[in-house]
Amino acid sequence: MTSIARAPTTASPSARATRRSARRAATTPSASANEERTTSTFELERVVEPLIAETKTLNEGIAKFYDESSRVWEDVWGSEGGDGTHMHHGYYRRGEPVNHAKAQVDMIEESLRWAGVREVKRVLDVGCGIGGSSRHMVRKYGCEAEGVTLSPVQAARANALAKEEGVENMAKYRVADALNMPFEDGSFDFVWSMESGEHMPDKKKFVDELARVCAPGGRILIVTWCHRTLEPGQSALEPAERVLLDRICDAYYLPAWCSIADYKALAEDAGLVDIETEDWSEEVKPFWKGVIKTALTLKGVIGLLKSGAATLRGALVMPLMQTGLATGTIKFNLITMRKPPL
Ligand code: SAH
Repeated sequence: MTSIARAPTTASPSARATRRSARRAATTPSASANEERTTSTFELERVVEPLIAETKTLNEGIAKFYDESSRVWEDVWGSEGGDGTHMHHGYYRRGEPVNHAKAQVDMIEESLRWAGVREVKRVLDVGCGIGGSSRHMVRKYGCEAEGVTLSPVQAARANALAKEEGVENMAKYRVADALNMPFEDGSFDFVWSMESGEHMPDKKKFVDELARVCAPGGRILIVTWCHRTLEPGQSALEPAERVLLDRICDAYYLPAWCSIADYKALAEDAGLVDIETEDWSEEVKPFWKGVIKTALTLKGVIGLLKSGAATLRGALVMPLMQTGLATGTIKFNLITMRKPPL
């Protein structure tokens, strides 16, 4: 299904070393403009890497990464005019002044508008972070919300924020794996996954699980990072593209990527209907420049150093997201679909 075969994020040190030399070898002249920009961070990544504690499984790595980095994200990014509760890209309208805090809320609003969501009774926030999106929906629709994350720190913070906002009876967060969720079949009329799909090692199981917990007639929306859809006759991305994605995967604890065409096929296989896809790669482009600028402030640098080596490596890799979006290897995609009514 996915077109990138890669070693898991939890690879042994020797496997990592093999991948490192493969990356060097795969740096092609045609990619030189972008590669030059990222070579210096490449070396810094290698300096930081030995300081990062090994984790045994992908899920353990994801949990630890968000346990360590969520607070600095909330504090540093939140000091830029927003509340720091949104760990996703902004949606930037062409011609409007760049306002990152507004753009992140606009991402939620535009996603709901695009998917045609008008009312919600019970939403599931899959890969909820600290629950910014679902509490927004609780306020907007007066609905109930459940959220799942792998990070105990995030679940606790999301519940604390719900309490602070007086919506703890409406919005509840817990630690659970999106591939095996503790909910009955058909429990939610809206299933929302904002920038968590890229962490899922089994995309088929992911889509099947979202379909299972969605009520008949209900809607699913996945907003996620994808790689570009392959051209006819292509069986894999170019070597330099794979190197780029591998570095991002290591830093952000991501398994193999897929394209939005792959997601569409999975949704069809799951028996879902009214499937629509969209590409907002242009609309999100100003985001990383803003994040990098904030990370480079004194507060940002101190926060990163305090959070630990994995968070620091995550910050070093940020320019690669810019490169991937600029070159078209990385796509910011949406897919929405419905579960057929009974
Ligand atoms: N949707 C949130 C957070 C995005 S960050 C927002 O927009 O603010 C990615 C989130 O996905 C993190 O909370 C992480 O814990 C979660 N995640 C990744 N893999 C997961 C899995 N297998 N099960 C549950 N949550 C997962």
